[in-house]
Amino acid sequence: MNTCTKYLLKIPPLLISRSLLLLSSKTQMAEDKNRFFPNQFPDYEPLSPNAYNIFSDQLKQAALDLKQTIVNETWGNSGKVNDYTLYTGALGTAFLVFKAYQVTHDKKDLDLCQEILKACDSASLGSSRVTFLCGQAGISALGAVVAKQSNDDSLCDEYLTIFRKIKLPKDLPNELLYGRAGYLWACLFINKNLGENTISSTHMRTIKDEIIKAGRKLATRECPLMYEWHGKRYWGAAHGLVGIMNVLMDMVLTEDEMEDVKGTLLYMIKNRFPSGNYPSSEESESDRLVHWCHGAPGVALTLAKAAKVFGGEEFHKAAVEAGEVVWKRGLLKRVGICHGISGNTYVFLALYRLTGDAKFLYRAKAFASFLHERGPMLLSEGKMHGGDNPFSLFEGVGGMAYLFLDMIDPLEARFPAYEL
Ligand SMILES: [Zn+2]
Repeated sequence: MNTCTKYLLKIPPLLISRSLLLLSSKTQMAEDKNRFFPNQFPDYEPLSPNAYNIFSDQLKQAALDLKQTIVNETWGNSGKVNDYTLYTGALGTAFLVFKAYQVTHDKKDLDLCQEILKACDSASLGSSRVTFLCGQAGISALGAVVAKQSNDDSLCDEYLTIFRKIKLPKDLPNELLYGRAGYLWACLFINKNLGENTISSTHMRTIKDEIIKAGRKLATRECPLMYEWHGKRYWGAAHGLVGIMNVLMDMVLTEDEMEDVKGTLLYMIKNRFPSGNYPSSEESESDRLVHWCHGAPGVALTLAKAAKVFGGEEFHKAAVEAGEVVWKRGLLKRVGICHGISGNTYVFLALYRLTGDAKFLYRAKAFASFLHERGPMLLSEGKMHGGDNPFSLFEGVGGMAYLFLDMIDPLEARFPAYEL
């Protein structure tokens, strides 16, 4: 048995406490000049299915323990919610608790999820935010799906009514975190879970048309669609091009629109950095960030999808190449989904689904085991950052718990609020 195999099997209990996480958020990063830990895993070593089962059982237990801590810290018994978002707030806790329910089928989790959703719904009254990740659409979309799972049809209808009343401001940006793409993702989530046309295709088409129109307005000679957010032409998944293309690929598109989405992705591949990483914006020459929000990880997930949508070799090859960047430079000194190891691990799970190559499952296991075995110590030593919202889904250990639950059935794993 080589060192890495031993490493994957020898997993201590995961201990995450509030004091440990707050310490890690405030402590000066000891090794700040590098954003990632060197990847010292040997490359692919086959593991027996039995070894994988032991591993995923341990991750499952760790995730369920951690979920309890996260619920205590972010919800407790207060019934009050300040930050209602999926990204950093209580909706992220509800999303994690729903995931735990899907694994354990413990009815208590479903009830708790309903309670948190209700408080999020009250807290979001009057908000003008409309996306799945940061707005009202996330609450009513998840609310409807959870109500359906609880066989409560009238509550499901109530949430759908709330969802259908959401008004999109005229000056809404187009990106995923705060814009039209993020609202459309909520529509897609509802239709996937409650049936096609629950949110009408006509309604979705109107919003898709606005996204295409806005993108063509800023098109360049080389790139058929382009967008701006706060004056910058971002490329990444959260605020930029690749996040918008990710959602457009799930829409019904005309032939011209398909060509524009394809052309935009090919433009990005052609203009990536020599290292294989992707710039965070059109203007950027700094090859620094390997995050879902900015850089190769978010692009890799979208290219893996493009490989299925458009077929052919070029997207498949580019997705795998972006995954190489994540393997080399993606063991970040951060824990979360948006810009941490948890999010980057999903790249290997997507490539595993795309290629069927066990090498990618091995890589996902390597990153997850690093988090599991070394994460708590690195956080306590201040060598890893716990996030500004240390128990949240997208910045904190909520994302790690979610990933661990997804590792139980890797072929069914989906990056939260990005992969359907
Ligand atoms: Zn981020």
